[in-house]
Amino acid sequence: MRRVIIAGNWKMNKTISESIELVNGLKRELFGVESIDIVLIPPYTALSGISDMLTDSNIELGAQDLHWEEKGAFTGEVSPVMLKDVGVKYVVIGHSERRTYFGETNETVNKKVKAALREGLLPIMCIGEHLEEREAGKAFDVIEDHLRGGLKGIAGEDALKIVIAYEPVWAIGTGKTATPEQAEEAHKYIRGLLAKIYDKTVAEGLRIQYGGSVKPENIKELINEPDIDGALVGGASLKVEQFVPIVKGSLKKGA
Ligand code: PEP
Repeated sequence: MRRVIIAGNWKMNKTISESIELVNGLKRELFGVESIDIVLIPPYTALSGISDMLTDSNIELGAQDLHWEEKGAFTGEVSPVMLKDVGVKYVVIGHSERRTYFGETNETVNKKVKAALREGLLPIMCIGEHLEEREAGKAFDVIEDHLRGGLKGIAGEDALKIVIAYEPVWAIGTGKTATPEQAEEAHKYIRGLLAKIYDKTVAEGLRIQYGGSVKPENIKELINEPDIDGALVGGASLKVEQFVPIVKGSLKKGA
């Protein structure tokens, strides 16, 4: 049985005081929710403070990116060792915004996934097609390319520690959600590929989240799909009144 994981990616939002307010609200509303994994992914500047606030809580901490080297002359970058040091458990890798605006490729994603695993961090590896690719009938080719590229050289036992986030780029921040059927079709396809790349154990054990305009109104129908194990939430993770119902809407499956 795969444990449901709901993660909130705050992207480049929230000052320290805004972060504290949001985390206080989420801690209060989500106290005692233990049957699923809840992860907050704030900007780097808020990680240390939030890490302290989440000590002994049911909510876990994630980061939005990392560099693959341990340390050195890489101005502006943050290493896996530093993330571990601040109490991070999960790290998003290869988000479509990183791929689009900052030149991430399958190769850099793969290096980052390996570096995260080496340091004992759990990667949330994002994959997914653009609208033109879907319209050209290439969605599944892109998914396969991102999946194989990102997982290159990673053994099955390590792959089981990875969460794949299927995020069709056309659904991110657009208010346009993939239908539950479209999302399930992609998740099932990814699971089939995992069985080919690895085996049945990895295919059935690895968690696959859906991401793209997840809201309180659509979480239930998405999470009810057999191959959807959670959600990576952007915009709706910035407000207590939106993120809480998304978490609570996923509980039935996690129970
Ligand atoms: C995301 O950034 O991963 C995302 C899914 O954003 P949104 O929920 O705003 O579409």
